[in-house]
This record gives sequence, C-alpha cells and structure tokens, in this order.
Amino acid sequence: MPDRAYLDWPFLEPRHKELALSFDTWASEHVPHTHGKDVDGDCRALVKSLGAAGWLRHAVGGEHGAASAIDTRAICLIRETLARHSGLADFAFAMQGLGSGAISLQGTQAQKDRYLPRVARGEAIAAFALSEPDAGSDVAAMQCSARVEGDHAVLDGEKTWISNGGIADFYVVFARTGEAPGARGISAFIVDAGTPGFEIAERIEVIAPHPLARLKFTNCRVPMGNRIGEAGEGFKVAMRTLDVFRTSVAAAALGFARRALDEALQRATTRRMFNQVLADFQLTQARLAQMATTVDGAALLVYRAAWQRDQGRGVTREAAMAKLSATEGAQQVIDAAVQMFGGLGVVSGQPVEMLYRDIRALRIYEGASEVQQLIIARELLKDMR
Ligand SMILES: Cc1cc2nc3c(=O)[nH]c(=O)nc-3n(C[C@H](O)[C@H](O)[C@H](O)COP(=O)(O)OP(=O)(O)OC[C@H]3O[C@@H](n4cnc5c(N)ncnc54)[C@H](O)[C@@H]3O)c2cc1C
Repeated sequence: MPDRAYLDWPFLEPRHKELALSFDTWASEHVPHTHGKDVDGDCRALVKSLGAAGWLRHAVGGEHGAASAIDTRAICLIRETLARHSGLADFAFAMQGLGSGAISLQGTQAQKDRYLPRVARGEAIAAFALSEPDAGSDVAAMQCSARVEGDHAVLDGEKTWISNGGIADFYVVFARTGEAPGARGISAFIVDAGTPGFEIAERIEVIAPHPLARLKFTNCRVPMGNRIGEAGEGFKVAMRTLDVFRTSVAAAALGFARRALDEALQRATTRRMFNQVLADFQLTQARLAQMATTVDGAALLVYRAAWQRDQGRGVTREAAMAKLSATEGAQQVIDAAVQMFGGLGVVSGQPVEMLYRDIRALRIYEGASEVQQLIIARELLKDMR
C-alpha cells in the first residue's frame, strides 16, 4: 500500500484528499499499466476514458474554463497518480491541460465555449506548439511567423517536438507577429487540424513512445478570432500556461519516483542473497533512505508551488524549483531502483525499466533543468542588483 500520509499535509484541503483517493481507485481499475504498439490509438482511448469519467474537467478548470477555476493541486494529484500507473496515461491527461491551458487562462468566452467542453469530455485532443528546430530553450528566437491579411492571420514556418502532433484536433501555435523584437513580438493562435496550409511534416519516435511530430505551416490562414490574448502577448500567454503545467511536470516525476520506490521496497524485502534479503544490507538501507528523502523533498516543493499558485500568487521561482528538484531527483530514484533489480531491472516491460525511459524527457521539456536553474537564480538575484 503506497504511503498516503502526504495527503494530510497543510498544502492540501480535504477535497484534495478525497479526489486523490477516489481517482487512485478509478485509475487502478481503468488505466492499463502497459500499452501496445498502436500508441496513437492507445492515447486516443485514454483521453476518451479520462473524459467520459469526468477527470479531464480538472485539466481545463471546468467545462467553460476560468483561470481561477484551475486547481493546480488537483492537476498535480491526478498527474502524480497517473504517473504511478502509466506514463502514457499521464501524458494523455497532461496534454489536454497544456494544449488548452492558454484558452482556459486567456481565451475569449467564444473560444472557451468552442473548445473547452470538448477537451473536457475527451472529444477533442489538444496540442501546444511553441518549440521550433532552432528555438527550443531559446524560445524568443522563434521564426514561425503570422502576418495579418484582412480578418485572417497567415502562418508560415515550422514547429517541432509537438506532443499529440498527428492526433490533435487543434493546436495552440505561437508565432512571430513583430510588434516588438524578441519575446514581445509573439502572438498565440488556435489552428484546427485540417486547416489548409497546415501539415504534419514528420512523426518522431521517442524512447517513451507517445504521439510527437514536426508541424509545417505554408500560407496557413486562420481567422483573427482564433488569436488568444492581445497581439504581441503570446510569450506571456505561453509563460502563464507553463507556470501551471511546469509544476504538474514535477508532480508526474514525483509519481514516477514513488512507483520506483514502491517497486524497490518490494524487491529489496523479497530478493534473497547471501542468506538474507537485499534490504538487510546497510548499503541497501542507505540507498532506500536516500530515495525516500528525495521523494519527500520533491513532494514538498511540488505541493508548495501548487498551493501558492492556487492562492493567486506568483510561482515562477517555486515552480522552477519543483520541476528541477522533482525531475532530477526522480531520475536518481529510478536509477537506484533499476540497480536494485539487477538484470531484471533492464528487461523490457519491467516497471522500473519503463520508468527509466519515462522519466528522461521530463528533465528536458517545458524548460530543461539548466533553464530552471537560471530562472531560480534570476529570481534570487533580481532584488539584489
Ligand atoms: C518528449 C518531448 C515532448 C515535447 N513536447 C513539446 C510540446 O508539446 N510542445 C512544445 O512546444 N515543445 C515540446 N517539446 C520541446 C521541448 O520543450 C524542448 O525540447 C526543450 O525546450 C529543449 O529545446 P531543444 O530540444 O531545442 O534543446 P536546446 O535548446 O538545443 O537545448 C539543449 C540542451 O542545452 C542545455 N541548455 C539549455 N539552455 C542552457 C543554458 N542557458 N545554459 C547551459 N545549458 C543550457 C540543456 O541541457 C538542454 O537540454 C518536447 C520535447 C520532448 C523531448
């Protein structure tokens, strides 16, 4: 039985504990631990089942979306739970939130009414298209452009590493509109799949399979009514969205780490060697102690950041600390678990082997660890200079 004491921490309210426990029961019954070769099909099925059961409403802050209705702690608890069960299920939930987050946070009522109810019911799949081949960590270097022609914006350029690319029904695309240089000249647009001039240029396979693609826009016309927020405000829209979902990436890493610790404890207390079990060795105990401490430290940072955002306060530094600590820590915890499993730890399909692949990208996307370090340092130093 996983340790649930953290559900009584003061960052969480009684409704969060209820949500976490009922969602875990649902996930145990409905979320498969392994998936087949049809990743697109599996992902669509997961979105449908999460939507039909009502869980995706948490990802979009209710069917009609209001920034204040986004409960970061609920999102984190759901992601943490899903990550313990299945990396792909966590991905499916997270992307419905990340892909529609800009609309929930800053969309017009018409945009919310058009997209959010379908996202929440699992009837429309969402994607968030910010990165480009030459603009990943350095987002402000983006080149994909949008020029105004009458009541349309015309998009030209590429996006890459776009999760749900190829299966999404709509994409929130960030493009240079040129109001000012760098980050201040970017706007956000909703592009429906099938819009003429928009194509999936390449599907990309990664070590923990999920739908991923490079997108291409050639004279792609979208109505100006599809712009999210004001012209030139796209970078702010992206950062506000990431402030919510960065903390939830940390929560997913925490879920992976908790699963690895549970697996390691199980193995250490049953694997016999040298006339005792693995857990009887002090070297193993030191390793387990470090793993548990890393997990609790990450959990404190995750729920501190989530709680702080839910109070309506800024969380740039806290979200970066949570993501840095939880993702880097989870990598260490999972690696330690693989080591304790010996040869079994690297056998394809073993839970710790899947966790080893699942965790890796979290240290890179939504801001690599080095970017989080720079954000934390900038926040620390800004009042000192
Ligand atoms: C599985 C996966 C899913 C993704 N999904 C999405 C998505 O849905 N939407 C989207 O828009 N993007 C997505 N991304 C893209 C992701 O956000 C970028 O990969 C990430 O921002 C890094 O950009 P890059 O790959 O261009 O690496 P680069 O920017 O080239 O960085 C390479 C490395 O350089 C290091 N680095 C970066 N900055 C610094 C610095 N200042 N100092 C020192 N070292 C530094 C880091 O270690 C970094 O990993 C996804 C990526 C992956 C792997």
